[in-house]
Amino acid sequence: MNNAEWFERALAVIPGGVDSPVRSFRSVGGTPYTVVSGRGAYVDDVEGRQYIDFVQSYGASLLGHANPNVVATLREAVALGTTFGAPTRGEVLLAELLVSRVPGLEQVRFVSSGTEAVMSAVRLARGATGRDRVVKFDGCYHGHSDGLLVAGGSGIAQLGLPGSAGVTAGAVADTVVAPYNVVPTLDDTVAAVLVEPVAANMNLVAPRDGFLEGLRAECDRVGALLIFDEVITGFRLSYGGAEPFFSVTPDLYCFGKVIGGGLPVGAFGGRRDLLAHLAPAGPVYQAGTLSGNPLATAAGVAVLEQVRPVDYDELTERVDRFGRGIEEAVASAGLFALAPRVGPLLGLYLAREPFEAPSNIAEARTVCENGLYGPFFHALLDRGVALAPGAYEILFVSMAHRDGDLDRTLEAVADAAAQIRGS
Ligand SMILES: *Cc1c(COP(=O)(O)O)cnc(C)c1O
Repeated sequence: MNNAEWFERALAVIPGGVDSPVRSFRSVGGTPYTVVSGRGAYVDDVEGRQYIDFVQSYGASLLGHANPNVVATLREAVALGTTFGAPTRGEVLLAELLVSRVPGLEQVRFVSSGTEAVMSAVRLARGATGRDRVVKFDGCYHGHSDGLLVAGGSGIAQLGLPGSAGVTAGAVADTVVAPYNVVPTLDDTVAAVLVEPVAANMNLVAPRDGFLEGLRAECDRVGALLIFDEVITGFRLSYGGAEPFFSVTPDLYCFGKVIGGGLPVGAFGGRRDLLAHLAPAGPVYQAGTLSGNPLATAAGVAVLEQVRPVDYDELTERVDRFGRGIEEAVASAGLFALAPRVGPLLGLYLAREPFEAPSNIAEARTVCENGLYGPFFHALLDRGVALAPGAYEILFVSMAHRDGDLDRTLEAVADAAAQIRGS
């Protein structure tokens, strides 16, 4: 059965044929490929086609697919039983690893997704401060919990939605949306400011110099908590994530993606005095049957134990060369590309004319909606290179991508840009 036939079957029994809207090809047109397997930088589909993969589970796969150590660890772990409803060693080991790498992180609690991590951190912030309002930034994505599903970037931006049907006005009444890269003036009704330290769900938007420091100072001025949503940046931006990268310490952190080694996981944490508000010690309730799951924590430990600080330096250098290469390859075809980089995070904007690097979603949108991304995406896919099927997503270069993979990609980029220029 080919991709079209599998997707046809999917459409019959799964809404839109996908279990997460960003996987659909709705904004780029066409039919998704159905993946059979992945190894390192590559994925293989049901038609036996192989792609150099820059989706990498939207950032969950730091080491690439089916990393041999992770696979071996999971084989061992699965035979011991997969969930118990009692404490296990793996959650302690993973928590110790996270706490040892993130300077301001004293305690963490595990959950099963990034959505849950952020939702729980916000509840904790409200419980700890006794305040209601939460400030988020336009175009930042924080998972799909009701209260945070406004101006959400990623799939929400892709589908041109302001938020979501089914979310009551009451659920978002205490969510205040502010433009990214401008420090809002707060008052003492604000429980927390929630931010992606590098915005990576509105394509890539770097924080301006002083933005994160400004948030820290403004939160301190009114006694609000600063929450870094590090579901993407955590253990990808650097060995210790955004805090050491920018030298700004939040009160609470949210993690996901990388820390599960490809299994469903999330975590939130921060200072011990704040985490003391959580049940069973405190009055803020939060729970989960599969939280701290032995498979997920084993995979997370297997990933984090394999990476060294120098690996992030190497990845950053490789991504920097690659990003410059993309800009040059597209320019050689007579179009204009901007591939912004923050550490090893890589964005991609395409246009017919030069433009300034976007600093918020409004600026990102004018470029992302110019109609070039869809044809470019398909021209690359035809050449065996898989980007995410949406202009608001970033490229994830894993530690398994070799220079040869990136060189082959650059050739495809030049050809693809030449092809779409005439279209
Ligand atoms: C992916 C993501 C989330 C949500 O994580 P899920 O595991 O998909 O629920 C939250 N915040 C950010 C910044 C993300 O990129």
